[in-house]
Formats: sequence, C-alpha cells, structure tokens
Amino acid sequence: MKLRVLVLGAGFGGLELSTILSEKLGDRLDLTLIDQHDSFYFGYSKFDVMFGHKTSDAIRIYYRDILKLGVKFKQETITTIDPASKKVKTNLDSYDTDVLVIALGADYDFAATPGLTDGANEFYSLAGAEKLREVLPKFSKGRVIVGVCGAPFKCPPAPSEAALLIHDYLVNRGIRNDCEISLVMPFGLPIPPSPDTSKALLKEFADRNIQFIPKKLVRSIDPAKHIAHLDDGTEMPFELFLGIPKHRVPVVVEQSGMTVNGWIPVDKGNLSTQFPNVYAIGDVNSVGTPKAGVFAEGAAKAAAESIIAAFESGETPEPYKGNGTCYIEFGGGKVGKVNVDFFSGPAPFGTYEEATEELVADKEQFASSRKARWFGI
Ligand SMILES: Cc1cc2nc3c(=O)[nH]c(=O)nc-3n(C[C@H](O)[C@H](O)[C@H](O)COP(=O)(O)OP(=O)(O)OC[C@H]3O[C@@H](n4cnc5c(N)ncnc54)[C@H](O)[C@@H]3O)c2cc1C
Repeated sequence: MKLRVLVLGAGFGGLELSTILSEKLGDRLDLTLIDQHDSFYFGYSKFDVMFGHKTSDAIRIYYRDILKLGVKFKQETITTIDPASKKVKTNLDSYDTDVLVIALGADYDFAATPGLTDGANEFYSLAGAEKLREVLPKFSKGRVIVGVCGAPFKCPPAPSEAALLIHDYLVNRGIRNDCEISLVMPFGLPIPPSPDTSKALLKEFADRNIQFIPKKLVRSIDPAKHIAHLDDGTEMPFELFLGIPKHRVPVVVEQSGMTVNGWIPVDKGNLSTQFPNVYAIGDVNSVGTPKAGVFAEGAAKAAAESIIAAFESGETPEPYKGNGTCYIEFGGGKVGKVNVDFFSGPAPFGTYEEATEELVADKEQFASSRKARWFGI
C-alpha cells in the first residue's frame, strides 16, 4: 500500500518534508508537491538582488529539476483547502489524500501599513528587492530607515543585516557621511534569545553609526512629506525607507478556517493540527519559533517522522526541539552564526559564533547542500 501525501507549498518546509518522505518511503510513497511558482529561492538572496550582486534569474532554482522517488511536482495555485475532508482545489485540478501538509509560508499585508506601497520601499518580496535595485543608485543623501511594520516577521536578523549592508553600500559609493541610518525594531534587542549575538550587533551598529530604535513599530508612511509614523507617535523624516511589511497567512489558508489569531495552531511536538492527518509546518503556523527557513526545515523533519511512524505503526518519534542555526550578514565580508533553541529549556536560549570571513563559506555550503538535497543539483 502506498501512502498518499499532499504537500501544499514548495518552500523550505515543503521541500525538506518531501525529501525525507521520499528517502524513507521510496516507492511506498505517492506524494504530490504543489506550488504556484516554477522556482524556489533563498530568502536572503533578496539582498543580492537589491544590491545588484545577482539578477533575479540567477537566484532561482527550478522545481522542474526535482527528481525524487514517489514525488510529483505540480505548478498550480491552491484555491481552496478543506482540512476536515483533506480535499484541495487548485486553478487546474482537485485532490484528496491520506495526509495533508500545509507549508504555504507567510504572505505580506502591504495595505496594513498606509503609504508603504506608494511612498516607500520594502525588501521582503522579490519584486520589492528588484525595485530597490533601481532606486538605490539614485539615492545620494539623507536618512535611510530600515523599519519593521508588524510582528511576527520572517527572519528576525534580516532588518539588522539590511542596516549593516546598506552601510557598506553607502561607504562603497563614497556617500556614507552624507547619510544617516536608523533601524526601527519591535524587540528590545536585535536577537532577544541570544544576548551575545545582540551585543555583537549593537557594537557593529555603534561602530558604524547606525541608530538602533528598539521596541517600536512603523505604523504608517506619509509619502508626500517623507515621514514615518511610529506606534508611539514619533515622526521620523526620511529620504529612503526600507520596510519590513506586516505578515499574514496566505488568503487561501485564512479561508480554510484553520487559523486562530492569524496563524495555524499546531501540536508543538509533531506539528499536527486539530484535523486528523493534517499538519502545518513553517511560517504558516504559530508553534512559537521564529519565522525562518531553518525552523521550517526542523518542523518538516518532526512532521515527516510523525507521518512515517503513523504509516508504519512505529514508535512515537522524539518531539520537535524548536532549534535552528541562522547565519547573519555583518557586512564587511563577514558572517556570524547564531544557534537558538526554543523548546528544550524553560526559556529560549541562543549561542553566538563570532562573525568571520570563514563563515561566509559555511553559509554558501548551507545553500549548496540544500540545492543538492532538494533538487539534486
Ligand atoms: C530578506 C529575507 C532574508 C531571510 N534570510 C533567512 C536566513 O538567512 N535564514 C533562514 O532560515 N530564513 C531566512 N528568511 C526566511 C525564510 O525565507 C522563510 O522563513 C522560509 O522561506 C519559510 O519557509 P516555509 O516553507 O514556511 O515557507 P516558504 O519558503 O515561504 O514557502 C511557501 C511556498 O508556498 C507557496 N504558496 C503560497 N500560497 C500559495 C498558493 N495559494 N498556491 C500555491 N502555492 C502557494 C509559495 O509560492 C512558496 O513557495 C529570510 C527571509 C527574508 C524575506
């Protein structure tokens, strides 16, 4: 008997889960992986696009390269999900399945921050990064704000990375002294679970004259006056605004009725939802880890083990630990590393590995190992 699995979304979570199930079940698996796009890219590749180091085409890894036993990829847009019957409709087809895995990630709610689309820029979508590639060379002086418009948001280190990388960009253009950089964040520290990482980032901000504005969110932008309004009433004038938009589940997930307070609640140990044989992994859930690819990957492992154990009537696997390792761009050609564990102890804790040039190769190895594992290239 084959296990029928339907995986919605071919991002970090969906790709890792499909890979594990193929490796472990082989020809006992009948898995369909659906995504609306023809290709995957790493979230951090948007920095390469926005600073003009790579084109959008160069960062794409095509799903057509996936060749895994028991796995079929379909490029379709999911239009309805019924978690009770495990039936899914797309723009082209209808599906039912034994096990349903929702790995549809987080979308952006641009309209939630008035003025963000008309009067500012964002670097969280590929379209936003592409636009910035045209905008940045025209910027020559004044204040740059890197501003978070809502929490939770993907990759908590990314706003700090953006501030450090924009510093390098302005130095390279010889205009840093004509510019200010401010970073508006909802947290008290850049990386709250890792005081050492936060300390290292705060030192870099101080050394590079980057103003860190903690515990605040950007509520709206006045496009005509070039002013960002913060949630405490502060008004911050700017010349260039680089936003982190408010996040939300994709509309199709909201319409499925699976969300509570905006995200899909799951069992912390195996990522199952309240619906039998329906799992939700990655950014789309509210398990309590940050919205980042490495956590989506860890969640995929835990869900895959649970799916296999149920199929083979095996022992209950170890519960999900909520741990992951993130690389952080420190600028100046250096990368740091933070390991964070959310569920093993009484409180989340993290350890920091100092930023070095050597870790740049480590980060490249992270990407190439995923390309090889998921796409066989
Ligand atoms: C600037 C930036 C830097 C980042 N840096 C890092 C980093 O260094 N390390 C890290 O771990 N994470 C990083 N991230 C975060 C990371 O990209 C995400 O957290 C991760 O991709 C989440 O994985 P996921 O599988 O949950 O969702 P995703 O990878 O977002 O995948 C979801 C998939 O679902 C598909 N989808 C959505 N709706 C539909 C639909 N209706 N029909 C069909 N398909 C649909 C999408 O096309 C997408 O492919 C970064 C993010 C950004 C924006």
